[in-house]
Amino acid sequence: MIPLALARFRPPIATMASEASSAAPATASGVDEASRRRVIICGGGVIGACTAYFLASKAAGRVAITVVEKSAIACAASGKAGGFLALDWCDGTPVADLARASFLLHRSLSDLLDGPRTYGYRALTTLSLALSPSELPRSRSPALPSWIDGAAASRPRTIGTPETTAQVHPQLFTRALLSSATAEHGVEVVLGEVQSVDVSGGGAGVVLRDGRILPADAVVIALGPWSSRLRLVSALFHISGLKAHSIILRPPQPDAISPHALFLSYQPTPSSKILDPEVYPRPTEKKKTPENRISEVTRGRISPHCWTATAEAVVRTKSAGACGEVYICGLSKEATPPNNPEEIAAEPESIEMLHQIAGAVSSHLKSGAAEVVAEQACFLPCTDDSLPVIGEIPGAENIYVATGHSCWGILNGPATGAALAELILEGRSTTVDLEPFNPARFLQRKAFT
Ligand SMILES: Cc1cc2nc3c(=O)[nH]c(=O)nc-3n(C[C@H](O)[C@H](O)[C@H](O)COP(=O)(O)OP(=O)(O)OC[C@H]3O[C@@H](n4cnc5c(N)ncnc54)[C@H](O)[C@@H]3O)c2cc1C
Repeated sequence: MIPLALARFRPPIATMASEASSAAPATASGVDEASRRRVIICGGGVIGACTAYFLASKAAGRVAITVVEKSAIACAASGKAGGFLALDWCDGTPVADLARASFLLHRSLSDLLDGPRTYGYRALTTLSLALSPSELPRSRSPALPSWIDGAAASRPRTIGTPETTAQVHPQLFTRALLSSATAEHGVEVVLGEVQSVDVSGGGAGVVLRDGRILPADAVVIALGPWSSRLRLVSALFHISGLKAHSIILRPPQPDAISPHALFLSYQPTPSSKILDPEVYPRPTEKKKTPENRISEVTRGRISPHCWTATAEAVVRTKSAGACGEVYICGLSKEATPPNNPEEIAAEPESIEMLHQIAGAVSSHLKSGAAEVVAEQACFLPCTDDSLPVIGEIPGAENIYVATGHSCWGILNGPATGAALAELILEGRSTTVDLEPFNPARFLQRKAFT
């Protein structure tokens, strides 16, 4: 049985590292190699990658960081998301500060990592409009971008400007961050399936399914919708999966598509349910080479080129105003993710509906006109109270969890990673107040049920 009593105070690991280093010969980073604290981050999605990046940048060599990923970096939601970012859409909720801090961090990360070229970062205008395929064509609103020439469309409403909305290619963003962390700070990526986190005997260890045990001074659990498959997490709270579908199309004249994100309301027939799909033209373009998958690499420590070179080989970022492909997502339902993220299968009816929506938006996106680049599904990680969980697990010292970001994980990854890095290194976060996301809130609720 896992003890769920509140953790007693222990010094944050940076303090432990500097105490240890005073007795040992210092290296260039100021810390003896043997006394460097070891942090293991479980999960190579956007949350794991952001945590590794900020921890490595802030620790400046004082901490040895390893990311353990079961399949491929950003193989699940973090690779298949829309990548839409908004400054103020979470205002008025407990997530507001996390979102605002993240939006600004995305901007500075883009400057640092050449985001427009590396992962398709760009600011854009966001429109909301209703599409009614069953209605008679109405006079076309001059406010509609010219490529939106499909089913009767309402006058668009501008719901985001280039100051308040932006986008990234989520897989390239996640890989670029981890790539930088490995190249600049020696973060290691290990391919393996985390089976459990062992907290017995004072220390911590991450136990992999193949029997390897990776000793650690601190562990971060960032396994997205798979997080509560670890007993340490499921003893406290549950993460459910919301399965959502997406397609990626390459229009015949990509440059005819302007940088406008669309939030649609779409009613296929007068009696059917209203759907709310999203459309994101992207400046990136996937090359027609077979995708080199990290899972083909033999188990063990892997060198960064296995996944970074892959990303560069398959995706070319066009200039910010241009369009390479159009991503369309929607149609979600509660479901249980399969054990293996590679086995998440899209449902044909949902994919068919997304193609129907694409054709209703634009003649450029109609089946037959546009090339189909991807038809896919993935899972949003959701908590019972709809808030992320970020912090130390009560009763499990130096074991942290970061998950439950639902539909805003790509946006909120940077401030989550930066805040968690501060919590681990300094014992508290200044980037953002993590109290609303404290895992201990579930402990209090359990006491009342
Ligand atoms: C259709 C769709 C569109 C979205 N659009 C947006 C958007 O526009 N903007 C936005 O901000 N957010 C968006 N999101 C949400 C966002 O994608 C998620 O919140 C985010 O990707 C979650 O990241 P994560 O790192 O927590 O989880 P994941 O991306 O699921 O990563 C978890 C990782 O853990 C690995 N793993 C699992 N089990 C193990 C194990 N036992 N051992 C080792 N590794 C393991 C998996 O392989 C995976 O790589 C969207 C999501 C969906 C589904």
